[in-house]
Amino acid sequence: SGKALLIDGKRGSEEVLAEITEQVRGLDGLQPGLAVILVGADPASQVYVGAKGKAAKACGFHSVQHDLPAESTEAEILAVIQKLNADPKIHGILLQLPLPNGADATRIIESIAPEKDVDGLHPINSGLLAIGDIERALIPCTPAGSMILLQKAAAALNFKLQGAEAVVVGRSNLVGKPIAQLLLAQNATVTIAHSRTRDLPAVVRRADVLIAAVGRPEMIKGDWIKPGAIVIDVGINRVPATDPAAKSKTRLVGDVAFAESLDTAAAITPVPGGVGPMTIAMLMSNTLKAALRISGRKSGH
Ligand code: NDP
Repeated sequence: SGKALLIDGKRGSEEVLAEITEQVRGLDGLQPGLAVILVGADPASQVYVGAKGKAAKACGFHSVQHDLPAESTEAEILAVIQKLNADPKIHGILLQLPLPNGADATRIIESIAPEKDVDGLHPINSGLLAIGDIERALIPCTPAGSMILLQKAAAALNFKLQGAEAVVVGRSNLVGKPIAQLLLAQNATVTIAHSRTRDLPAVVRRADVLIAAVGRPEMIKGDWIKPGAIVIDVGINRVPATDPAAKSKTRLVGDVAFAESLDTAAAITPVPGGVGPMTIAMLMSNTLKAALRISGRKSGH
């Protein structure tokens, strides 16, 4: 039950991917190229990398994957990136994170040519986002996808982001901070909450727009949600299945208590099927943007 509009990320991602595929067909002589680097053989990372390659091919991109052994040195990874930086067929370079054994990726990310940094993690791209140059920045994929879903929901509800109270829970460089910058660019009044925030329920209750990017299963309770709020739940958490007869022993939940929020929120993203599917679509969108930019053509968006 509940009256909240469910924001369909699967459909949203299909729309973005269809638009990209269409645009790529019309690009004569230019094929966007995406290179994904996987260090080690983490099973989850292998699944993500496989899905990225598959989506790239479906969009009509040139797609390559570089598998490096888990024990690769930083110099070996840097050498692969140097080659890709110089390769005219490659417009997007993605280093799958995390690196094995908790290795620090900072220097490696900084070696990616900023115009090919389709994950949007190079300080040049975070800097462009921070100064509000949204057009020039390559924006991290999950934040970009979250904003598309938010804008769709806002349009459907005739809700104005301008001036709205937005609360982002989480301040990671990958998710929380870039989402906060994007909300600011839409003229929302932005609060960033984190693990040291005092009285988190009270802060969340102010939110006309709530973005949850914490990584704690259903931590945000239904009675924290302001009536009429739009809720974008970025969290993906695996928990034990509640139904003992269920096929899988685990299930995925977000950072927001979903069922409890349906009567209060005006719109909410489900987990799974919300923000998750948008991430790969935005990676394709960034790769197309990079290809158009590098080749001196204008982005069609
Ligand atoms: P991080 O672990 O890097 O950041 C979590 C943030 O939540 C931190 O800023 C932390 O605060 C804050 N936090 C932790 N505990 C609390 C608490 N009790 N109260 C308030 N804030 C808290 O995670 P990410 O940003 O990388 O990811 C967040 C979630 O999004 C995860 O569930 C992840 O799985 C999911 N995700 C989904 C993606 C997708 O949809 N494709 C992609 C990327 C992530 P502090 O800074 O103080 O430590």
